[in-house]
Amino acid sequence: MSRDLSAPEQRRLMLDSVRDYLEQLAEEGLEGLPMTLRTAASGPGAVGAKPPASAARPSAPDSASARAAAASSPDSTPPSSELLSRYPGLEKTASLEALSAFIGDCKRCKLAPLRTHLVFGVGNPDADLMFVGEAPGADEDARGEPFVGRAGQLLTDIIERGMGLKRSDVYICNVIKCRPPDNRNPESDEVAACEPFLMHQIDLVRPRAIVALGTFAVQALLKVKTPISRLRGNWHEVRGVKLMPTFHPAYLLRSPGEKRWVWQDIQEVMKVLGIELPARGGAR
Ligand code: URA
Repeated sequence: MSRDLSAPEQRRLMLDSVRDYLEQLAEEGLEGLPMTLRTAASGPGAVGAKPPASAARPSAPDSASARAAAASSPDSTPPSSELLSRYPGLEKTASLEALSAFIGDCKRCKLAPLRTHLVFGVGNPDADLMFVGEAPGADEDARGEPFVGRAGQLLTDIIERGMGLKRSDVYICNVIKCRPPDNRNPESDEVAACEPFLMHQIDLVRPRAIVALGTFAVQALLKVKTPISRLRGNWHEVRGVKLMPTFHPAYLLRSPGEKRWVWQDIQEVMKVLGIELPARGGAR
């Protein structure tokens, strides 16, 4: 039976919720808060840095539901047939090459005219482990390959020096395949346009585990609004595959103190995949 929360309990829940929200904003790139909070709240344009579009306030401090989501979330992706039927012919693509050819010179969303390269994904098509990021940045757009900039170098270090694998052993892709202008957050129509491709990529690779990098990838894959600080460190599921959320490498570049959590999450993934800690020095 539920009971009313005491004032200190209510205060703690409220503080938890505010902390989660600030962590989420920090992970999405907000580097500070304006001193003029009251003015900012009441006047358009008063805030120095506009919060990213997807930084919608997480739902009220319902810690029971947040904890339940953090413990494990059911697979909430639409069934294959529904997803694939959004693009007739997609269901016939039975390999990553065929999928990439099907996507072709994609014009299905408003990012198409802005990109240099569509960034499909790289790596082992039979990988046990798949990493999913948010969207290509400038370096990725220029080269047509995911995670090749500074954040990408850190991801490569995690894979090679941390896990003792080669980058080419795993599969790496993003939620959306084209760079949003000025690295803004992907918008919902852009995510929706790419969703069948990402889900089909997961179905084709059929990894044993997915690591979702950062708030955006986790929320897009799990279809939740729970902050990543609550989701990381616990297993979830997408398309029947175990999914471990962790912080985005770009966030780690800004907040190196958080690396220990990512290392904890990666070690959990290694445990489940039976990967032994490498001898010092990296890729086997
Ligand atoms: N960040 C991402 O989420 N993906 C990339 O490919 C590069 C940076």
